Amino acid sequence: MTDLAQGLRLRDDFPGVGDWHYLDSAATAQKPQAVIDAIARAYGADYATVHRGVYERSANMTLAYEAARRKVAQFIGAASDAEIVYVRGATEGINLVAQSWAGTQLKAGDRILLSTLEHHSNIVPWQIVAERVGAQIDVVPLMRDGCIDLDAMAAMITPAHKMVALAHVSNVLGSVLDCRRAADIAHGAGAKILIDGCQAVPRLAVNVAALDCDFYVFSAHKLYGPTGIGVLWARQDLLDAMPPYQGGGSMIDKVTFEKTTYAPAPTRFEAGTPHITGVVGLSAAIDYVQAIGLATIHAHECALVAKARSALDDLNSVRLFGPESSAGILSFEVQGVHPHDVGTILDEGGVAIRAGHHCAQPLMRHLGVEATARASFGLYSDDSDVDALVQGLARVRKIFG
Ligand code: PMP
Repeated sequence: MTDLAQGLRLRDDFPGVGDWHYLDSAATAQKPQAVIDAIARAYGADYATVHRGVYERSANMTLAYEAARRKVAQFIGAASDAEIVYVRGATEGINLVAQSWAGTQLKAGDRILLSTLEHHSNIVPWQIVAERVGAQIDVVPLMRDGCIDLDAMAAMITPAHKMVALAHVSNVLGSVLDCRRAADIAHGAGAKILIDGCQAVPRLAVNVAALDCDFYVFSAHKLYGPTGIGVLWARQDLLDAMPPYQGGGSMIDKVTFEKTTYAPAPTRFEAGTPHITGVVGLSAAIDYVQAIGLATIHAHECALVAKARSALDDLNSVRLFGPESSAGILSFEVQGVHPHDVGTILDEGGVAIRAGHHCAQPLMRHLGVEATARASFGLYSDDSDVDALVQGLARVRKIFG
């Protein structure tokens, strides 16, 4: 067992884990008590709206809400907290960029570059805007190990490509993108690059300045925080030039029936009463993971994936997908058994995995399967989870012969 699991007894921090073998953290992570407590306080004794109140409690909540923005900025290496836009999650962040940036910058004949392994939320928003403006989508292929083929990307990108949008870590294969190289290739062709950091932010230390990307999105609920809140980071000059995505309260400067002027970014993109308690929960989640350290979390998850890969490989009727060095996520197929049956039998033994297309149907077609079984780890996972998975798969084999 790695030191992290043994030394810190992190399982005890998570009331949702207990002795359950929760291997679906890539779908959504369980919450530490510290996050649950912070949200309870925010809905309880501290509760008030932000930005509008003239009374002390609202002023305090506004301070907490904006302090969280600074914390997020520091957490991902943003130059300023004004570059942090609170959104509902990665999905909304990508839709915001697709509508507000691509919807105004792209014209007929322009091209958008995605990859074979993208989550539907990093495909469909681009298709919607491409259809509207008459742009085309091209797809960067994968290498044999499931990593995005950056040599192929360099060979296929042209000046007509205005936007490249790629996942930092694949939610199916766990493959990790060399973001810096992808950004260099995109910028060399004059394109902007958006990185979908949903699966990276809980597992790797992310610094957007070092990655040199233009947009970065993630969801709090995969980072041990609450659902319904996420982050869009964008370079200040890009945000400043982007029109509002939604209209409503809070995002304005002055409203008349003749003309409305808008607040500067990021306020311009945060219409309506925000998810105040979500932001407080996100802030607590960042405190929690930073106290452990992302390097420690990454090493821990890599050790668990390595152990699981080796144990599943020994079962010889199991096909593993993705590279050896996958970050915290392992997709597999038990030959001759549908992944849903695998998931159901594992559940009987208290092991929760995900079975399905994982919102990545183009990737499933590329792999030649309809679905995969996926085990994904979190900082609370430990060797007992891998052992239970292996025992459960032995039972699957016994039942299906
Ligand atoms: N991208 C990736 C790689 C994901 O794993 C997910 C969530 N499964 C998303 C985007 C979408 O995140 P959300 O549903 O939280 O908006």
